Parts: sequence; C-alpha cells; structure tokens
Amino acid sequence: MTGEAIISLREVCKLYRTGVIEFEALRGVSLDVEAGEYVAIVGPSGSGKSTLMNILGCLDVASSGSYRLAGDDVAEMDEEELADIRNQRIGFVFQQFNLLPSLSAVRNVELPLVYAGVGRDERRERAAAALARVGLADRVDHRPGELSGGQQQRVAVARALVTEPAMILADEPTGNLDSHSTADVLDLLDELCATGRTIVLITHENAVADRARRTVRVFDGALEEGTLSGAVTA
Ligand code: ADP
Repeated sequence: MTGEAIISLREVCKLYRTGVIEFEALRGVSLDVEAGEYVAIVGPSGSGKSTLMNILGCLDVASSGSYRLAGDDVAEMDEEELADIRNQRIGFVFQQFNLLPSLSAVRNVELPLVYAGVGRDERRERAAAALARVGLADRVDHRPGELSGGQQQRVAVARALVTEPAMILADEPTGNLDSHSTADVLDLLDELCATGRTIVLITHENAVADRARRTVRVFDGALEEGTLSGAVTA
C-alpha cells in the first residue's frame, strides 16, 4: 500500500432483506482507488452498481467488510460525521442533475458551502470560480431552466467541485444528455482528471466507460478488473 488510497474496500458484502427473502447484491467486493485515478465502474442493469455507488458515497453501509475513505473507517462514523464526509470529501454528480430550479447557477453551486458553514462572500467567490472552471463564467445568474442539459450538468459538476472534495462520484452523468453534451461533460471529466482530481464514474455504457484510464466491471455483485478495449460491446 502506498497510503494514498482514497477508496479502500475490503470484502464488502451487501445483503438486502425483503421480508424473509435475502438477496446478496454485493459479494465480497474489494477495490482500491488511488488519489488522481479516473476509474469507471461498468456493468449491466441489476449488477450492483447503484449499491456500490451508495456505499462509496456513504449513502448506505455495507452488511460486512470494510470501507476506508481517505484512511478513515466509515463504519466507525455516526450520522453527523457521515453527513460531513458526504458534504466535504465527496462531490456527487447524478444523472438527473439535481439542481434547485428556483436558484441561479451560482446559488446552486454555493449550496454545499452553505451546509459547510462558509461565509457569504467567500461562498460567492468560490462558486463563481467553480463555474468559470467548467466554462460557465457567463451563465452564473441563469436558472437551470435557462440552460441546456449539458450546461446544467456542468453546473452540477461545479457544485461537486466547489468544496475541493477528495473524489468526484459521478453516477450515469451523461444518461440524460444528447451526444454533443455527453462529449462536453466527458471532456470536462478528462480535464478534471488531468488536473489531479480523483474520479469514479458509474455507467452502463461502454463508450462512456472507455474514457476512464481504468475500468472495473461489476457482474452479479462481484468485481472484475479490465480494460474495455476489445471487451464485450453494448
Ligand atoms: P444496478 O445499479 O447495477 O442496476 P443495483 O445495485 O440497483 O444494480 O441492484 C443490484 C441488485 O440488488 C438487483 O438485483 C436489485 O433488484 C437488488 N436491490 C437493489 N436495491 C434493493 C433493495 N433496497 N431491496 C432489495 N433488493 C434490492
């Protein structure tokens, strides 16, 4: 170990119980992601990607096994600590953008800083800088409804970046975008990776996963490392 792993999963299992029926959605998953890596987690529907994403994002906990995020054991944290981790160490990007429609772009990007208790002027400055970084300096006062899908997703990426998190967790970030906007958002993730960000991208599309430097496949709740080139096509 280099000691620089941002994500360290060991033999993680996730068991869902519905009445008396149990289903093992993750079966002994181990994964290390180092600082600065760009990893795509790819797999068909029902393979366990969302379950894994929820655990990586500290939105759910494993039934057994361990998860260390930037060296800290997530199992030892209470709800408040987990909320802080989600706010400060992880930048989330979702398929549905999840922007508040009544707020301008800059106010949406400020939100994680509001929760983190950052003062108004610093908030505004950092949010404007994050928007400039994703190429939207001229759209700070636009509301989501006044922006294209691709631009809205860029706002969401700016919101994910604004706290300077240890990693960006992107769940099907291009799932709602046309091909032009998809290319735009994928270029942005490439740029972020080139400047040292750690990115974990979850997708069922091989063409999207192909942009990452490393690919991990999920199948029936288990992981398999591999490159996509020459692999199964969608
Ligand atoms: P993916 O994101 O790859 O489509 P999921 O992680 O959503 O896969 O689901 C993996 C498996 O776990 C599926 O068979 C799904 O039906 C099951 N599953 C997911 N969430 C629950 C739940 N809350 N209760 C019971 N089973 C679940």
